Amino acid sequence: SAGLAEADPEIAEAVAGELGRQQHEIELIASENIVSRAVLEAQGSVLTNKYAEGYPGRRYYGGCEFVDIAERLAIDRVTRLFGCGFANVQPNSGSQANQAVLLALAEPGDTILGMSLDAGGHLTHGAAPNLSGKWFRAVQYGVRKQDGRVDIDQVAELAAEHRPKIIIAGGSAYSRVWDFERFRAIADEVGAYFMVDMAHFAGLVAGGQHPSPFPHAHVVTSTTHKTLRGPRGGLVLTDDEAIARKINSAVFPGLQGGPLMHVIAAKAVAFGEALRPEFKLYAKNIVENAKALAETLERGGCDIVSGGTDNHLMLVDLRPKHLTGKAAEAALGRANITCNKNGVPFDPEKPTVTSGVRLGTPAGTTRGFGVAEFQEIGRLIIEVLDGLASSGEAGNSGIEASVKERVLALTGRFPIYET
Ligand code: PLP
Repeated sequence: SAGLAEADPEIAEAVAGELGRQQHEIELIASENIVSRAVLEAQGSVLTNKYAEGYPGRRYYGGCEFVDIAERLAIDRVTRLFGCGFANVQPNSGSQANQAVLLALAEPGDTILGMSLDAGGHLTHGAAPNLSGKWFRAVQYGVRKQDGRVDIDQVAELAAEHRPKIIIAGGSAYSRVWDFERFRAIADEVGAYFMVDMAHFAGLVAGGQHPSPFPHAHVVTSTTHKTLRGPRGGLVLTDDEAIARKINSAVFPGLQGGPLMHVIAAKAVAFGEALRPEFKLYAKNIVENAKALAETLERGGCDIVSGGTDNHLMLVDLRPKHLTGKAAEAALGRANITCNKNGVPFDPEKPTVTSGVRLGTPAGTTRGFGVAEFQEIGRLIIEVLDGLASSGEAGNSGIEASVKERVLALTGRFPIYET
């Protein structure tokens, strides 16, 4: 049968456009990455045709002998990577991995304690519009106003007062190391399960640049597509066999039907890549690059929430430049620098406007940018922001065009997906 270009030129054109966008822009969205050709190939494979409800060796469909190999490899590799006993690699997304934990370990109406969205937590940690906030009694902790760090005393107080069933550590816009030991001690005091959602920093744990949630966490969730550099998807890990059994029933048949076997195969490929020594260097470079970018932006007059970063991301507070996140995201986008607006803690602006942008180094580091390139990127960002600050909402088209040219020169020196 015909290939995509012939069979469906409209979709082929959208795919080609997206490829060009990724090749010619600087990707600073902290939750994105650039997967290997091997990951793409596994995900685009015939495994997409297969139904495989159940688990390896215990399927509800025939013909599962080859997809069983893929899923067993994924489980074996990810448990070695994170040093734990059990893994479920079937969640279709990070959100579904988190829902699986809630379904496995709590009942509707139970109390859960997680980081609030405006402090950097994720929707699935108890935010009001999410299932986790609607079906559970969600209590939320934040960060301290003075230093932007997790208010661990508040976590302890809220835990003692509300006695949650589950305490969740992890977030989407937090640039500091998590103290898992302290969280576990708090959970033990109130008889709660301690869950770590390491979606953002899983690749750093794998590469030895962030402390492991094990042995402290009862259960760990993650996405597979952020710093871990795999296909879009989720996973759940634990060292506790009884919890593992509950998680498996929660994922299937609790939440999902047929697992995405092509994605699971691609997860296995990514876990294999993360087990190689090069991945340790990759993780180290991500962190060094993030520090270099944060320092350059601070020197250029931006505030970095909490004064810096220990991981792959930073929250840039634009209030010293009297700019909003919305305007900055648009101006940087016109210069081929892609990022997302993001609320800063205690943000006076609406979530659709915000006072900040979130920047991350995983994707740029994958294409080969080092400290010198991230310093240059930091200076380009400051140029665009200062142009915007002196020209109003529409931005400074001269500066933006000139920065775009330099972005194209930089991305040209570090090509991706060339044939
Ligand atoms: N958990 C955290 C901490 C995240 O940052 C995200 C994604 O942004 C998720 C979970 C959800 O992942 P997904 O978008 O795959 O549902």
